[in-house]
Amino acid sequence: MTNEILICPKCKTYTLKKTCPKDRTKTVTVKPAKYSPEDKWGKYRRIAKKNEKYRG
Ligand SMILES: [Zn+2]
Repeated sequence: MTNEILICPKCKTYTLKKTCPKDRTKTVTVKPAKYSPEDKWGKYRRIAKKNEKYRG
């Protein structure tokens, strides 16, 4: 597993998996907008972790 944040292009679910945990769509790398370097991934990581918790 990498620390790369991925997003499902179909349902916009953030995850760390290569496939969406909800619909198994192949996820793509998130390209963050202009965030400060420190907070660059914080938002996505938090959402991704939350989504991971809801898995099965
Ligand atoms: Zn999805």
